[in-house]
Amino acid sequence: SPIERKVPVQSLSCVYICTYGKMLSKFSYNRVWIPDNEEVWQSAEITKNYKAGDPFLHVQLEDGTELNYPVDPAALPPLRNPDILVGENDLTALSYLHEPAVLHNLKVRFVESRLIYTYSGIILVAINPYKQLPIYGDAIIHAYSGQNMGDMDPHIFAVAEEAYKQMARNNKNQSIIVSGESGAGKTVSARYTMRYFATVSKSSSNAHVENKVLASNPITEAVGNAKTTRNDNSSRFGKYTEISFDQSYQIIGANMRTYLLEKSRVVFQSENERNYHIFYQLCASATQPEYKHLKLGSAEEFNYTRMGGSTVIEGVDDRANMVETQKTFALLGNVFGGDFQMDVFKMLAAILHLGNVEITAVGDERSSISLKDKHLNIFCELLDLNSDKMAQWLCHRKIITTSETVIKPMTRPQAVNARDALAKKIYSHLFDLIVERINQALQFPGKQHTFIGVLDIYGFETFDVNSFEQFCINYANEKLQQQFNLHVFKLEQEEYMKEDIPWTLIDFYDNQRVIDLIEAKMGILELLDEECLLPHGTDENWLQKLYNNFVNKNALFEKPRMSNTSFIIQHFADKVEYKCEGFLEKNRDTVHEVLIEILKDSKVCEQSFRNSLSLLMVTLNATTPHYVRCIKPNDEKLPFEFDSKRVAQQLRACGVLETIRISAQSYPSRWTYLEFFSRYSILMTQQELSINDKKQICKIVLQRLIQDHNQYQFGRTKIFFRAGQVAYLEKLRSDKL
Ligand code: ADP
Ligand code: MG
Repeated sequence: SPIERKVPVQSLSCVYICTYGKMLSKFSYNRVWIPDNEEVWQSAEITKNYKAGDPFLHVQLEDGTELNYPVDPAALPPLRNPDILVGENDLTALSYLHEPAVLHNLKVRFVESRLIYTYSGIILVAINPYKQLPIYGDAIIHAYSGQNMGDMDPHIFAVAEEAYKQMARNNKNQSIIVSGESGAGKTVSARYTMRYFATVSKSSSNAHVENKVLASNPITEAVGNAKTTRNDNSSRFGKYTEISFDQSYQIIGANMRTYLLEKSRVVFQSENERNYHIFYQLCASATQPEYKHLKLGSAEEFNYTRMGGSTVIEGVDDRANMVETQKTFALLGNVFGGDFQMDVFKMLAAILHLGNVEITAVGDERSSISLKDKHLNIFCELLDLNSDKMAQWLCHRKIITTSETVIKPMTRPQAVNARDALAKKIYSHLFDLIVERINQALQFPGKQHTFIGVLDIYGFETFDVNSFEQFCINYANEKLQQQFNLHVFKLEQEEYMKEDIPWTLIDFYDNQRVIDLIEAKMGILELLDEECLLPHGTDENWLQKLYNNFVNKNALFEKPRMSNTSFIIQHFADKVEYKCEGFLEKNRDTVHEVLIEILKDSKVCEQSFRNSLSLLMVTLNATTPHYVRCIKPNDEKLPFEFDSKRVAQQLRACGVLETIRISAQSYPSRWTYLEFFSRYSILMTQQELSINDKKQICKIVLQRLIQDHNQYQFGRTKIFFRAGQVAYLEKLRSDKL
């Protein structure tokens, strides 16, 4: 079958739209895609010849219905690909690359052939099968090891192998960027890449290195994953794991950085969701002698663990998992020794007790906590704190002005807030501490020569209500998308230069403007920081400043018509409406200082997402990236069910379709002269074939077959085609056969 590859998907480019009418008649091409409410797109056959300018396309749908489909010159129905191309393992092999083509091809592969992996140029698209597949064993790993990406079926192992090979060949650090929405399969994919490296690069001298590297996963999942309505094991943080290799490319350790832990989950869970797994594991083991002093009980007894309704997950045994968690602690060695483990469990138990501390309202202005409060006392006992002070400072705050220090009582809601803030602080501190220890445990003697980083981070998010968390994650995704764009741009440029093709600047869709809106001087974040510094700053005042600065001045920013409490940003993937409530508090992320002071030994790390994000971008930019986009095929977690609407939505958000726009003006199909010659010799005349030089023959034939010389370019070793040209050649070829 024809091969067109290596460049991201292509869609309705301008060229394509202008020649649409011509193409229809030229090809006597009769199959198109028209929009459909249920399936997003449905196939339709054109029943009467279409002439440019006709107001309607006469079509027949697959169920036999005849239809006059109104033709909008700005949105002509995309053409269907020849059947021979459907099911290709690289989407860029499609001659027409647009949303319906991509969607249809993925569906045919997934539903009919049960293939979950497909390439889209340099991206691996992975659709979650929601079923254990026998494609991840060691035998498969060895089958992929040492092979070329193009020679094997698309697979997560092929991406891992490619990264490993490029690292060894070019002596350059690599990264694998896994993205997708919650439940799409990011964490599973990231784990498989790590399994791959651990297997193919087993260190002979340091036998346990790779096991330890793999053991870091269950631990971070115990403290950073939780059941949500979308995923029973949802990671509530982003993670970049650098796997270090020595000069002979054997694993010698790893290092991990984490991002944006969802702290609010520690004190609040929505219906049918749970807190972090570790709390339930600990509660399920409460009666065991070694945990007696934590004075825990069932998860039903604690506010922070019972809020979501159900405290159990079907098919999950929290008690057995606690044993596993401890085993992995043990596997990581001394840094997770008995004392440290017990400190961790004490802190976790303390958080649960803190959540049960009763705060009573005293009139409208004050609140109090009884010194006899059982949970307060256990909390203080576990953390070795003074309970009088704690009771006092949970219900009062100290306000220091230039002239005096005032102690101000807090209302009950304020005190509850202070208590929850403290719980969140302790947890995030604990999380950081564990990550730090894991990193210590994964340091081994030997010098790092190169690394492969694996990034598992949530993709672009839009919910009904979006807040600071979504804002941060979408901002991170803008940065990742930009990095992707630049990478594709660079690859294109390199290819053109190599082939001596005159380099015309491709008009890339650039998302710099939205990034500027967020991070430039006087942008959204700077205004937020300023507002946080004002003694009387509020979310509403900040929002007002955003309105004043950007409404009607920045096309990517809007004020919703019906709301005074939200703002809209046009992201690369979608428009998102954010509610301003809570932005200031979450950006400040502070607990009253006095409470911090009481927490002795507590090294308080301030949230520095922006710094860590820019550090991540610097790291990624210095590596060769590989992209994996995970897709969740349905919301019911059903095996091999393909919900076209949901998939289309994710393809748009994860940048797969975005790349269509990027390459809209380039040459998506590339053939070597030899490939072209062998496939289309049937179109060549005797006279042409008598010429000695095959390259010369290709040029002459192509100039004869395609009059518009803007539709292709002759490179040194390859011919570059614009969208649709190969489909046209295929049509000519099949007419001859
Ligand atoms: P994410 O990290 O994107 O939120 P996960 O990687 O946790 O999603 O995957 C969610 C669930 O989907 C997993 O617990 C598993 O049941 C299923 N799953 C994901 N990828 C695969 C796969 N390749 N094969 C089988 N099941 C998978
Ligand atoms: Mg995950």
